Amino acid sequence: MSAVELQANQISKTYGSHKVLNALSLRLEGGQLTCLLGQNGAGKTTLLRILAGLQKPNSGQILLDGQALQEGFRRQIGAVMHQTFLYEYLTALENLRFYAQLYQVPVETSLLKEALARVGLGKAREVPVRTFSRGMKQRLTIARALIADPLLLLFDEPYTGLDLSGCQLLNNLLAEEKAKGRIILATTHEFEFVRQVADRFVILNKGRLVDDFSGGSQLSLDRLEARYLAITAPRSIVEKSSNLLPQQVDA
Ligand code: ADP
Repeated sequence: MSAVELQANQISKTYGSHKVLNALSLRLEGGQLTCLLGQNGAGKTTLLRILAGLQKPNSGQILLDGQALQEGFRRQIGAVMHQTFLYEYLTALENLRFYAQLYQVPVETSLLKEALARVGLGKAREVPVRTFSRGMKQRLTIARALIADPLLLLFDEPYTGLDLSGCQLLNNLLAEEKAKGRIILATTHEFEFVRQVADRFVILNKGRLVDDFSGGSQLSLDRLEARYLAITAPRSIVEKSSNLLPQQVDA
């Protein structure tokens, strides 16, 4: 069976006179994690929000296996965005139960407990979220993104607030979700961590995707950084790492 495919076609988004996304096209395949890179303000969050259906583009369309998205597709999306949208006075388990009801996912309490254990919050499940650290809240939003068994996972800076074991745990989860055939798009500046799980990198600059290359074990951290800096950084910085570039740029 071929992998499911999500296609963003000619997406444009303008705020006032600022064209943040300029006829951007991107094809994402199930079973792959694509990492979206770009400087602050490049438009990464805007693109993720549009794919999540949280924001409308000025023009362009999103297709799933060549078809326009059906009503209810939002339920097939798991998202970790900047805002956590957690209820501080509810416990971790109550938060998940609330969102499961909101997404109309008939999830048994035992599965919600499992989801919390999966992100290392098994012991904290009856604790109100207001006492959680930033990293614990991040773990909870990751658990929430996965409860509806989503086809598409959108992660905006998912390593934020996570400690070392949290980052490793997230990478394990991402690898498991890839194996289930999910379409995964993540933004991050944690190059070292994401390098371990990303199959592909795309770089957003001035509203367009200007680079697109494979990840995997052959892509060293130095090469990844050099490729990123070649697009986003001033020339002086690029020259320092230019010895790392040619093999990648020609690839
Ligand atoms: P990134 O995630 O790459 O840092 P964003 O998508 O958050 O970038 O933002 C891209 C640009 O769009 C920025 O210049 C930002 O100021 C602008 N922007 C984002 N959201 C809004 C908004 N609601 N209204 C006006 N400008 C916005």
